[in-house]
Amino acid sequence: MKIHEYQGKEIFRRYGVPTPRGIPCFSVEEAVAAAQRLGGKVWVVKAQIHAGGRGKGGGVKVAKSPDEVRAHAKKILGMQLVTHQTGPEGQKVRRLLIEEGANIAKELYVGLVVDRGTQKVALMASSEGGMDIEQVAAKTPERIHKVFVDPQAGLAEGEAREVARRIGVPEGALGDAARLLQGLYRCFWETDASLVEVNPLIVTRDGRVVALDAKINFDDNALFRHEDIVALRDLDEEDPLEIEASRHDLNYISLDGRIGCMVNGAGLAMATMDTIKLFGGSPANFLDVGGGATAEKVTAAFKIMLSNPKVKAILVNIFGGIMKCDTIATGVVAAAREVKLAVPLVVRMKGTNEDLGKQILKDSGLPIISADNMADAAQKVVASLAQKKATAKPKSKLQSKPKAKPKKKPAAKKKAKAKGKKK
Ligand code: GDP
Ligand code: MN
Repeated sequence: MKIHEYQGKEIFRRYGVPTPRGIPCFSVEEAVAAAQRLGGKVWVVKAQIHAGGRGKGGGVKVAKSPDEVRAHAKKILGMQLVTHQTGPEGQKVRRLLIEEGANIAKELYVGLVVDRGTQKVALMASSEGGMDIEQVAAKTPERIHKVFVDPQAGLAEGEAREVARRIGVPEGALGDAARLLQGLYRCFWETDASLVEVNPLIVTRDGRVVALDAKINFDDNALFRHEDIVALRDLDEEDPLEIEASRHDLNYISLDGRIGCMVNGAGLAMATMDTIKLFGGSPANFLDVGGGATAEKVTAAFKIMLSNPKVKAILVNIFGGIMKCDTIATGVVAAAREVKLAVPLVVRMKGTNEDLGKQILKDSGLPIISADNMADAAQKVVASLAQKKATAKPKSKLQSKPKAKPKKKPAAKKKAKAKGKKK
């Protein structure tokens, strides 16, 4: 889970990490009033969205008078802010942070992440703050200093001080900087964060170290023990389809491609996406319906996939273990009817009640393309896209497709067999 910068800074303060004074605002009037309450002569108007790179995108502006605060707030609030992290459609700005201006002498970088290799929290720090840290890592990796923190001892003062020195914190501020880094580490540890990033961490002209930006991501699996953090969730910032999916307890992540995937099991879902890629397609989502999904859950999953306008074809790939193929088939048919399915649908089912599931699909009269294995399924779904492109009337083509495999005559026999098996 992600939170806004102003929320991150509130958490930082609890851990003794200095930040500029600031007030979150939801309207232009509030922004002007906030500037007056903060006092001083310089303010910064900052767009609050769950994405970085706001500065470059025009979402961070320095104001030298309340009128300028008003003008910037007016411009930024409601804008569709595009940054390298939002995608081309951008993200609508609904909240602002009005802060007292800082007098920057140096911009540094600090980040904390879990390092899987060492199974420790890695503290990364650099003298190159305020810029894209990925670029620094690629071009001048020697400018990034890393400490792998002993989970039992925590970040020691000596270690923190050494890092601060290496990234160019002046002698007089080393004590403060070390305390700040220790505070960030405790913040990371105690909130079950997966990322804490301060870019830039600044040294002011009067020698203070201050977190000028705050990014915190939390481990979703630990949120059950952080009610206060869950309360900070801003649904406006999240993909509506992912929110809907979480309501139905589905593991769903939107992607950029055109092929919607509905799979049971995370491993099979990953393998399915790889197979689609292998045959030249691109997945529109990751979707794991889980082991014990009901027909209702499958219907919900189907609707979620289809409400993504990028989806131009669907691949259902199910291994029926605990999950039975007929349950999936029933859900697929119900959903396809309910949403008046207008894109090609390829289904591959294996396992428990496979024949019964296939029969349900067949009896539905829907133009479903069935596939025997994963490669076959991926190729068929990719081909269905190409056909869709090539012809103005894709449906007739699609319907003709399964007819290429006519050897399914003894359906009644199979049905009986499947039924018998079930009982
Ligand atoms: P990001 O672009 O989303 O990472 O947003 P940041 O909070 O990092 O702001 C972008 C840049 O704006 C920072 O790197 C600073 O250079 C600048 N900035 C932010 N706050 C202030 C401030 O109080 N004074 C000045 N002079 N610049 C600031
Ligand atoms: Mn930043």
